[in-house]
Amino acid sequence: MNLEKSLDTIPIFRQVGAVADQMEMETYLVGGYVRDLLLNRPSKDIDFVCIGDGIRLARAVSESLEEKAPVSVFKNFGTAMIKVGDWEVEFVGARKESYQSHSRKPQVESGSLQEDQERRDFTINTLGIAVNQGNFGELVDPFDGVKDLKRKIIRTPSDPDITFSDDPLRMMRAIRFASQLKFDIAPDTFDGIISNASRLSIISGERIIDELNKIIMTDKPSYGFKLLFVSGLLAEFFPEMVALQGVDSVGDKSHKDNFYHTLQVLDNVAARTDSLWLRWAAIMHDIAKPATKRFNQKVGWTFHGHEDKGARMTPGIFRRLKLPMDERMKYVQKLVKLHLRPIALVNDKVTDAALRRLLFEAGDDIEDLMQLCRADVTSKNDHKVKRFLANFDKVDKKLQEVEAKDQLRNFQPPVSGDEIMAIFDLKPSRVVGDLKEEIKEAILEGQIQNNKSEALELMYRLAAKKGIEKKTNY
Ligand code: ATP
Ligand code: MG
Repeated sequence: MNLEKSLDTIPIFRQVGAVADQMEMETYLVGGYVRDLLLNRPSKDIDFVCIGDGIRLARAVSESLEEKAPVSVFKNFGTAMIKVGDWEVEFVGARKESYQSHSRKPQVESGSLQEDQERRDFTINTLGIAVNQGNFGELVDPFDGVKDLKRKIIRTPSDPDITFSDDPLRMMRAIRFASQLKFDIAPDTFDGIISNASRLSIISGERIIDELNKIIMTDKPSYGFKLLFVSGLLAEFFPEMVALQGVDSVGDKSHKDNFYHTLQVLDNVAARTDSLWLRWAAIMHDIAKPATKRFNQKVGWTFHGHEDKGARMTPGIFRRLKLPMDERMKYVQKLVKLHLRPIALVNDKVTDAALRRLLFEAGDDIEDLMQLCRADVTSKNDHKVKRFLANFDKVDKKLQEVEAKDQLRNFQPPVSGDEIMAIFDLKPSRVVGDLKEEIKEAILEGQIQNNKSEALELMYRLAAKKGIEKKTNY
């Protein structure tokens, strides 16, 4: 690959080189951008390392730009950032770092380019390309990063034990890069993760979930989860998921391994959508199976109520993992709670009332729920898979028919609480809620149509039974 030519596709590299030449500073493009360039992947941000003061270089580069870009300085880190078009361009002076055991904040002093490359997490992230005019486009690769890119290997440039103990977040990053790039982790690097897994406790939940979500967003998230599980990292922050693993047997009756089943469901969902939260619903759908597992002589293993218990566990797990507690959590909780319902609708004798209820409860998330249910079919028996999926097609059709007729997925009460209070001159009270609820029930049960006139008529009848009178002047 002709690096000079590749760099010349964006003017920023020559420009930074020219400014650095004027300041007589050796400067290199480094890290993720170089890695992604060699892998022919799109990159989000551009990092430069210079021998000298990175903040001074950033200011001079900003001055040299036609459209002045403000410099954001992060004094504590000795770095500075400029936004150039869509690019975030970061500058740092070459440095070496030393760590103390209780924190991932290193002591920093200036160092050589090689020392700066050595402090980086993985060999594939240590690569530098010179941008000064004299050696523009020259690759600097003291740790065989290019070889590891070719062999598809994640490896630390120095002793993995020290690398991971210094900054345990790197363990999550190792698995994240392996998942994103479909790379292996070198055996001694992986051993380093296993021995330092418990050090993850000094990393903030926000940083961990950030990496985890990137793993979840890869093409085949099961790969990352298997690495997290085998290394012992998953147990550090998500023990409920680890508890899914394993098979119990009584006599010749065993249940399936719910960890590997969950990963299959997650991969199935990932093959169809980019939605992080539908992927989270897949991760969570069977989370309460260990807690609800029973053995019964007649029927074998059961997990009664795991969908309800799983929904109840969802807020606690989301809070602890620093996931959002807003409508995204509620969405996951809803899908967990409802994930068995479409199966119950497969039966030919299923009533319209049952279909209406599911439409009412799932609302606009009914398609996502059906996707989760299809993904949940992980049998190895092709005939069974075909039959189950055909059954879901039938359920889909029935749901569509009922929806066309009754419009329930965005159910709005045809008579509002305010109207009920105005008609009967009532204060906000239990009886208002009761009337609303009974009207909704009658609609779902199919006793009345989902429209205002039938709802009002029923409301008057119900009110009369309760001895409530209409306001005289209404
Ligand atoms: P991406 O931007 O796709 O997440 P990246 O490699 O650019 O990947 P960044 O987090 O942007 O990752 O970091 C830029 C560079 O800084 C990395 O390539 C690596 O050289 C170095 N780096 C980042 N985080 C660490 C860390 N925790 N320990 C050591 N080096 C790191
Ligand atoms: Mg980056």
